[in-house]
Amino acid sequence: MVNCKRCKDKPVINGSCKSCFLRYFEKKVRKTIREFELIEKNDRVLVACSGGKDSTSVLYLIKKIFANRRDLTIEAIAIDEGIKGYRDESLKFLKAFCKKEKVKLHIYSFKKEFGKNLDDMVKDEKPCSVCGVLRRKILNFMSKKLKATKLVTGHNLDDECQSILMNQFRRNIKLSARLGPKTGVLKDKNFVQRVKPFYLMSEKEVATYAFLKGFMTDLNECPYENESYRSDVRDMLNNFEQKYAGTKSSIIASFLEILPLLKKEYKGDLKFCKECGEPSSQEICQSCKIVKKIG
Ligand code: SF4
Ligand code: ZN
Ligand code: ZN
Repeated sequence: MVNCKRCKDKPVINGSCKSCFLRYFEKKVRKTIREFELIEKNDRVLVACSGGKDSTSVLYLIKKIFANRRDLTIEAIAIDEGIKGYRDESLKFLKAFCKKEKVKLHIYSFKKEFGKNLDDMVKDEKPCSVCGVLRRKILNFMSKKLKATKLVTGHNLDDECQSILMNQFRRNIKLSARLGPKTGVLKDKNFVQRVKPFYLMSEKEVATYAFLKGFMTDLNECPYENESYRSDVRDMLNNFEQKYAGTKSSIIASFLEILPLLKKEYKGDLKFCKECGEPSSQEICQSCKIVKKIG
């Protein structure tokens, strides 16, 4: 076995030992935050958590990086969609984690906000689209209510590459204008900006970080998980990356070059829902339509 390329210790990933990898990872995340100005002075930061490895890692690292910044508040928010055997377990882990790390955790549930658990909503709906739309809605609404100025998510480089390609393949370019390390087509008081500190970290790197830090859990997967289109794109990308190293980073770099143009092109597109007043691309927002349908 070849030793760590930096210090000659035993390697754990890509020719790096544990301590060199952790140092590399944290340094690169700091640089991402600085370069894209993800966290700014006096920010009220909310970290969107699920109990999974990505969001747990991002919460841990944001707390660590900004431990001495008295001007910031850093809290966590989680949504309980009401998925038996899955979300109840992951939230148990998250609650314990936040208690240990002394992070204030806000949990909101579908049951309380919409009157029903996801399990009871999806008899004849597609679970993931209902789940995604309603979760986004609560997250945005509650982030505003909690007066957050930034909503941090655990999205990584692989997630972003998949989204970029999916939008491309399905001719949904307009949706790509909302991607990027700092999302939102415009800075608006109705929209809490979402920021992605792991924007340049690969899935594999985040998984390694989570594993080395002990944030990997053997929780069940969501029983509804069936995003076959995304997983096909994921497999294709992984195959390509294996054959042509650097593909994913190139997709991101190219995307960052055209993103300012996309944002400019679709700037005027945001309207507000007639029913609930939340930002929407149509007269009535997607979640109000869903709530009506399931109600
Ligand atoms: Fe919701 Fe689908 Fe994710 Fe399950 S897999 S939590 S149903 S979006
Ligand atoms: Zn080393
Ligand atoms: Zn609405």
